[in-house]
Amino acid sequence: MNISITKNPRPGKLPPSDTLGFGSIFTDHMFVMDYTDKDKWHNPRIVPFAPIALSPAASVFHYAAEVFEGLKAYRWKDGSIHLFRPMENALRLNSSCERMALPQLDPKDTVEAIRALVEVDQAWVPSDPGTSLYIRPFVFSIDPELALHGIHQAMFIIILSPVGSYFSEGLKPVKIMLETEDVRAVRGGTGYTKCGGNYAASNRAGDRAMEKGYSQVLWLDGVERKYIEEVGAMNVMFRIAGKVVTPALTGSILPGITRKSIIELMKSWGTPVDERLLSVDELISSAKDGSLEEAWGVGTAAVISPIGALAYEGKEYTVNGFNIGATSQKLYDELTGIQWGTRPDPFGWTVPVTKERV
Ligand SMILES: *Cc1c(COP(=O)(O)O)cnc(C)c1O
Repeated sequence: MNISITKNPRPGKLPPSDTLGFGSIFTDHMFVMDYTDKDKWHNPRIVPFAPIALSPAASVFHYAAEVFEGLKAYRWKDGSIHLFRPMENALRLNSSCERMALPQLDPKDTVEAIRALVEVDQAWVPSDPGTSLYIRPFVFSIDPELALHGIHQAMFIIILSPVGSYFSEGLKPVKIMLETEDVRAVRGGTGYTKCGGNYAASNRAGDRAMEKGYSQVLWLDGVERKYIEEVGAMNVMFRIAGKVVTPALTGSILPGITRKSIIELMKSWGTPVDERLLSVDELISSAKDGSLEEAWGVGTAAVISPIGALAYEGKEYTVNGFNIGATSQKLYDELTGIQWGTRPDPFGWTVPVTKERV
């Protein structure tokens, strides 16, 4: 892939870390590539970050063929910049494209596009503790017609956003609410993909939970509303009677790379994670009898998000006295240590973007 580069004539500047927040500040450039049936993927380019013009009839606005990814670049103490398992994101992007009948990419091109863009905007990778550069690749259909005749034109774009520390005062437990009305996804649907529509379908439950003072919803399966699936846009794990349990990937759950990394990490420690169906009855009875020792969400944005309380059918159950548990803390320290290069990476998960300080 031969990427052309057009430099932004009016480059901006990385704001102070404490003003970054999440996903509202963007870097000087973006990566763009076009697809048509005739030319396939073509014209890969890095251009100044700017609005894009599309026909109001573009199919993405009407039929929501859009999929995305999320990963991060981390600046290490020596100034070098590293990605975390980018090939996993490239493969998952293809799996999402395949489900939505969007054109797939060569995963090596996807990783190279990410690497090249981060290299161009390397001055935007913050260095303060807990900060990183969030990378958002996305693919969407742009056929300018309302007839549903498949997807023949698409775009692949990557944008970058410097993000602050998720937990500026260390890991902080959150309160979550079991959602018993809305469902996020069903088997045979799109739950295992990062398609935009999944998040649109989650908004109402998220808003209702927020109104009641909960930061996320805990989703149940879409058929029986009996089994635990995910927490907000994170995978979820529990420690019950000494064993770490996470819902098995049944098709309606997003196969998180953080989830996968934790499973591989714990296996290497000789304490395997139990991937299985976990019913809400089992979870609530373990919360009642005290065998629920810890609960936490896992995902790229926060890495680990401890759960301090669970609400279900009008009752609230405190988990681990609203404190961070030893397992969640250990996983957070180990995984972020690998990502920021302060701990060894025996798995070869980190991929350098640049070797030297800018
Ligand atoms: C992105 C996402 C996750 C976490 O995936 P990671 O690869 O670990 O970031 C989990 N659940 C949902 C619904 C997601 O969108």
